[in-house]
Amino acid sequence: MDSEEIKKFREAGRIAATALQLGGKMIKPGVKLLDVCDAVEKKILDMGAGIAFPTQTSRNEIAAHYCPDDEDESVYQEGDVVKLDCGSHVDGYVADTALTIDLGDNSNLIKASREAVEAAVKIAKVGTTIGEIGRTIQEKIEKYGFAPVRNLSGHGIGRYIIHRDPSITNFDSGNSRELEEGESIAIEPFASTGAGMIYESNNPTVFMISGRKPVRSPFARDVLKEIEQYQGLPFTTRWISRKLGLGKTRVGLRELMHAGIIRGYPPLPDAKKGLVSQAEHSVLVFDKPIVTTKLDE
Ligand code: MN
Ligand code: MN
Repeated sequence: MDSEEIKKFREAGRIAATALQLGGKMIKPGVKLLDVCDAVEKKILDMGAGIAFPTQTSRNEIAAHYCPDDEDESVYQEGDVVKLDCGSHVDGYVADTALTIDLGDNSNLIKASREAVEAAVKIAKVGTTIGEIGRTIQEKIEKYGFAPVRNLSGHGIGRYIIHRDPSITNFDSGNSRELEEGESIAIEPFASTGAGMIYESNNPTVFMISGRKPVRSPFARDVLKEIEQYQGLPFTTRWISRKLGLGKTRVGLRELMHAGIIRGYPPLPDAKKGLVSQAEHSVLVFDKPIVTTKLDE
């Protein structure tokens, strides 16, 4: 990784972290989820970066992938455990970061994932194994009496790529694969009061291109044309519906899913309806790791 690339990763990180902080401050009972997601994405664009993936705000037992569309009237409620997860990119170099806001009485749950990510990024240097990262996360979360979510993982990040190797599990998998110099990764522990396992529900609003083939339906074709601009990065219903209208967009997206051209990423609830917290930072692996999504570094 050369110094130009490091600069771009760092700039993306600074912007994502700033937007996340702004969104986090907005999260209060009675505020619309949609307004927070819009504000975060506007901030990313205003600061001169691209949006790497749709901003997501999942509550309580939903660990990830909740992304409101324009008909979604839901508002944050007193007592909610609220995740906010956003990403920006500079020339394709991606930053991915998340936090959890406690609108109730779950401060230990929030602390567990936050302390886990802090401990993990500190040791994310050349030669540390994936297993050690996972063990560190697991120990922090279990110390609080919660379960790390075992089937959600951190991940490598590439240029215009959100998820790639290595997969960084939130428990000690025994994986002896070492982190390498110049690797770009996201570390994202989830702590659960329930099963520590999530499943895929339905009605996705987050999508990504998964294959290319010709389509005949005019709705699908119009939606597909809109999707091209995202350069293979994830996108959401509301971005497209603001151009094409919600009815047409939903039909087009469904057709593209059935044709195997896009894949949907539906909300991911905990299997036992436990409350879930998350914290996430993006890191460049060196002898001294660079945490790009921290504002004080
Ligand atoms: Mn994320
Ligand atoms: Mn991530």
